[in-house]
Amino acid sequence: MPDLRYKPEFAKRTEIPRPKRGEGQWALGFTEPLNKNEQSKKDDDPLNVRDRILNIYSKRGFDSIDPADLRGRFRWMGLYTQRKPGIDGGKTAALGEEELDDRYFMLRVRSDGALLSPEAVRVLGTIGQRFARDTADVTDRENIQYHWIDIENVPQIWDELDAVGLNTLEACGDSPRGFLGSPVAGVAADEIIDGTWALEEIKRRYIGDPRFSNFPRKFKTGVTGHPDHDIAPEIQDVAFVGAVHPEHGPGFDVWVGGGLSTNPHFTGKLGVWVALEQVPDVWEGVAGIFRDYGYRRLRSKARLKFLVADWGTEKFREVLENEYLGQPLLRNPSPQSPLGYRDHIGVHPQKDGRRYVGVAPTVGRISGTLLVQLADLLDEHGVEGIRLTPYQKIVLIGVEPDRVDALVADLDRIGLSARPSNWRRNTMACTGIEFCKLAIVDTKQRSADLIAELERRFPQLDATITVNVNGCPNACARTQLADIGLKGQLVVDRDGNQVEGFQVHLGGAVGVQANFGRKLRAHKVTSVDLDDYVSTLVTNYLSDRETGETFTTWVLR
Ligand code: SF4
Repeated sequence: MPDLRYKPEFAKRTEIPRPKRGEGQWALGFTEPLNKNEQSKKDDDPLNVRDRILNIYSKRGFDSIDPADLRGRFRWMGLYTQRKPGIDGGKTAALGEEELDDRYFMLRVRSDGALLSPEAVRVLGTIGQRFARDTADVTDRENIQYHWIDIENVPQIWDELDAVGLNTLEACGDSPRGFLGSPVAGVAADEIIDGTWALEEIKRRYIGDPRFSNFPRKFKTGVTGHPDHDIAPEIQDVAFVGAVHPEHGPGFDVWVGGGLSTNPHFTGKLGVWVALEQVPDVWEGVAGIFRDYGYRRLRSKARLKFLVADWGTEKFREVLENEYLGQPLLRNPSPQSPLGYRDHIGVHPQKDGRRYVGVAPTVGRISGTLLVQLADLLDEHGVEGIRLTPYQKIVLIGVEPDRVDALVADLDRIGLSARPSNWRRNTMACTGIEFCKLAIVDTKQRSADLIAELERRFPQLDATITVNVNGCPNACARTQLADIGLKGQLVVDRDGNQVEGFQVHLGGAVGVQANFGRKLRAHKVTSVDLDDYVSTLVTNYLSDRETGETFTTWVLR
């Protein structure tokens, strides 16, 4: 395999004219910081904050923290201040960050698609119990997210995580955030290729590397060799997606420039084939383009998706090959994403004869105690470990066939169903107003209540309907990719009062029907009326659908 690592001497600069007004693209010479985030990163590499947390802040307490670290560089260690309790969503935009800041932190642990052993699950659970008021959420980036973290406890938490091979390094910030890996990598009977080595190698080479710790914005990575495309590759900054070359066999296509928020873009497919061994080098090239050519002037225009939209995939591939890899990549048709579930819920065969079992916590909300209970079950039934999914779910890996029934019954008993209702399976929710400083509305509890009510009203639904609940326009729970996408905002109720509610997006989908949910002007609903609103939609769909018509095709009819 040729050495494809970036060497500047390979660089044959593509002819990119230098515009008069720069957008902060370093490669075009615009290196002066153009906003306070860029200035802060230039003042000090955010990776350096780790030492200050260990040696100063954790010893002297919250009030000793430099504000530039607190609201900036801490993110590179997976730490955000959480929202002060009791501030309603109407004040989110009006108050400054300092007024919204609590003295406690949210802490994200990255799993990077790795198999978590029973011991690791137990450690994650006991950290939640002892240091996080028993919180622990599964996020849609395969992280475990805690709340109520005291700065004084961070060093001990890091030590305990480190002992089971986990960390929080670059879990947030303008960095290579937690990677998404196929939750069934290496085990699924129908897998095209196992991407585990590539993810481990990218992590080993580049996480914590100062060459890749200052991107224009966050940088999201996914690798899957599963035919279901189970890492939401359409909305990653870079996704490696299993593809078969007629001569070389299984490898990966490279998709770049996806993302949601207020300006959604699907990834552009480069239409190339890269071998497993090439993936880390190609990742380095794509990350290098983002670092060097990304737009740093405006935070709202800084994601890779804007560069890819301006350049197009052909030019992006040309720059990648000419400037960063020093050789062309093999051309190969891009694989099509299939329709259908990507969450691995239920019992499925592994290639080694064992089974994997996907279970659905309610909107990713678990707890330290539940993780400890889960670790007990893993030990009791001899299960190899778990993986987290991009759908806020958990997959148990390596279950002996003769233990499946007893295990599934025990999982049910602790609230982790392998046979969830449509609503429990297909509803996701972001963090929301409980802890997030950007939130306008409650999401987790509202979604749990919605699920319970829909289970009561539609207990035997014979269709798949997805519901994604978000606390603000940032779309962390993928507003635009659900059949029913809900974006938190203040709305006016019948009495003319501004109250918590949602802008509705209908008909979002991935796969061959890939489509961003339509924002319908008249479809705004108060949080109080949400159960009735969704019920009306579902009733109309069920009575009006034609044979085989999905909710989204019905909406788009
Ligand atoms: Fe916070 Fe908004 Fe993201 Fe929800 S969508 S977690 S409210 S930033």
